[in-house]
Amino acid sequence: MNIVNKDRRMTKQRQVILERLREVKTHPTADEVYAMVKEDLPKISLGTVYRNLDILAELGLIQKLEMAGQPKRFDGNPHPHLHGKCIACERVVDLGPDFDFGLDKKINGFKVLDYKLEIIGLCSRCQEKENKLK
Ligand SMILES: [Zn+2]
Ligand SMILES: [Zn+2]
Repeated sequence: MNIVNKDRRMTKQRQVILERLREVKTHPTADEVYAMVKEDLPKISLGTVYRNLDILAELGLIQKLEMAGQPKRFDGNPHPHLHGKCIACERVVDLGPDFDFGLDKKINGFKVLDYKLEIIGLCSRCQEKENKLK
């Protein structure tokens, strides 16, 4: 179902959600976004936050990250880049500079439309903790 055609307007609420999300690099869940915007939008409901995040993702202004065994997370950076999931603290971090696999390009004759790739490991903070324990 395409909800975007119905509701493309950039409402005040949607604008605030987009701005808050673009200020952080933490890839928050919808619940966390809700907590982030609550101060500016005291009347907003969790359902409205969910709906607006979905619309922003469909509009291509943000990314929705679906990782196995985790609630959906949202990224204010709409450009394709790699994410790493830390197995110790469950943080989702951006890996290196924006990395573009080349959407709409071909790899071995295969036309790339999108990719879902999960890189799992230990973030720098958790590696430091591990090293201290040794
Ligand atoms: Zn970690
Ligand atoms: Zn990211």
